[in-house]
Amino acid sequence: MTQQDTPPSDGQLDVQSLFSPQFAEPEPVAEDAVPERPRRRAVVAEDEALIRMDVVETLAEAGFEIVGEAPDGERAVELAIELKPDIVVMDVKMPRLDGISAAEKIGKAHAAPVVLLTAFSQAELVERATEAGVMAYVVKPFSPADLIPAVDVAIARYNQIVALETEVDDLVERFETRKHVDRAKGLLMSRMGLSEPEAFRWIQKTSMNRRLTMREVADAVIDQVGDAE
Ligand SMILES: [Mg+2]
Repeated sequence: MTQQDTPPSDGQLDVQSLFSPQFAEPEPVAEDAVPERPRRRAVVAEDEALIRMDVVETLAEAGFEIVGEAPDGERAVELAIELKPDIVVMDVKMPRLDGISAAEKIGKAHAAPVVLLTAFSQAELVERATEAGVMAYVVKPFSPADLIPAVDVAIARYNQIVALETEVDDLVERFETRKHVDRAKGLLMSRMGLSEPEAFRWIQKTSMNRRLTMREVADAVIDQVGDAE
């Protein structure tokens, strides 16, 4: 059954079949098979169907996938929270819920960045919009050259804010951990007679051995040893 017994009809294929699959060279990746950057997902909310189509078309031409369309603010909020798109492009004046209130809800839910479409006369709304967490706005009538850069800016700003918030959360978490570890260390020192380095090493070792975070170990110490306090 060996391959060598049969004269190869197609040299390349037979040589390759001599190698077991686990040693086989990885298939060369065809140039056109290189995975593209995933398409950015957009929700469009606008009560005027023609303008909505225009926004959808402009975004699609810029490579966005339109994952949801809404004719009013309430539906926009639902879609944004459900789909967590990369961007929500939304009209200000819409039935049921206006764009600014909708943006406020979307912002509170940490669902997506928002670009607002405003009429020229609504320019005074911009301040309220900024407070609502709107990342950019575009004055109608708009051209692709207006809309797409505003969308890019909104996404970039939003990502910066998310990154900063994550950093702050990490800092808060680290600060909390340190407070708890300090408290546990103090308890181990006063109740168990350990020195400070010993107490710290004990918490560190226990966390590694038990696969717990240092904060979890500290909390267990505080729970069990700190009761009397
Ligand atoms: Mg409108």
